[in-house]
Amino acid sequence: MSPRIDLHAHSTASDGTLTPAELVRAAAEAGLDVLAITDHDTTAGWEPAVRALPSGLRLVRGAELSCRWYGEEPAVPLHLLAYLFDPDDPDLVAELARVRLAREERGERIVRLLQADGIDVSWSEILTGAGGGTVGRPHIAQALLRAGLVATTTEAFGPDWLGERYRLPKEDIEVFRAVRLVRVAGGVPVFAHPRATRRGRIVPDELIADLAAAGLVGLEADHEDHSPAERAHVRALAADLDLLVTGSSDFHGTHKTVRLGAFLTDVEAYERIVAAGVTEVASG
Ligand code: AMP
Ligand code: ZN
Ligand code: FE
Ligand code: FE
Repeated sequence: MSPRIDLHAHSTASDGTLTPAELVRAAAEAGLDVLAITDHDTTAGWEPAVRALPSGLRLVRGAELSCRWYGEEPAVPLHLLAYLFDPDDPDLVAELARVRLAREERGERIVRLLQADGIDVSWSEILTGAGGGTVGRPHIAQALLRAGLVATTTEAFGPDWLGERYRLPKEDIEVFRAVRLVRVAGGVPVFAHPRATRRGRIVPDELIADLAAAGLVGLEADHEDHSPAERAHVRALAADLDLLVTGSSDFHGTHKTVRLGAFLTDVEAYERIVAAGVTEVASG
């Protein structure tokens, strides 16, 4: 039987709802052989996940970097998965710290916008809810839910709330700089959900070709935010550009409905990532 490999999951180190220890236990219970922990803009979940690693489970240490492409106006936000990089690389460490701080400032500004419209949400309560992890809109969505202002997380991300009216840009990493930083840190950059039109604007294929030339290694094809046609398009583009292809759940605990292992990565792609990364895969 081929191993079950899920290379995209979030913990309470960012906007997931399971702690890193709970996440690796849940991955084993879900029958996974390999899990990647990929919290937004942080490696804070790595150590607790490794310490709690159940026997038989392998852990790929990674992160999901908040990036932006400035080739269009307004600039397009995008996500870069980075695997098996050196977590002590000073340039990457500094950039991630800068982005996390900018996320806090942006979160607080979103809360001030809500408050200015008479909406009763508290920034300190949202920070407490984030529990020291990377702050994101899902934490603000939880506050809207607790206040009874929306009925579901999906509604909180709709146009009347965090999707548009109360959406502010983050200060993300310029995407070519992010690819370079990850490569210099010995990591493996993979473009997360590159064709997810349902999440917002997407970038042109020409940009993906330029990123491939700059050191991008793979594309995430199988993801819940891609339609079957979008998945096929990503696969074809990856074949053209000689990039590897991944499939993953992007699990967020109860902040999303998707389950661990909902989408999987082929063992060949996994082995290419492992061979290219500077950090060892941890074994339980
Ligand atoms: P941020 O990084 O703060 O801009 O927030 C983006 C995060 O919000 C994504 O990584 C997802 O975890 C989450 N998210 C975005 N859209 C939705 C949605 N429609 N439903 C639930 N979660 C979402
Ligand atoms: Zn997220
Ligand atoms: Fe993402
Ligand atoms: Fe993600």
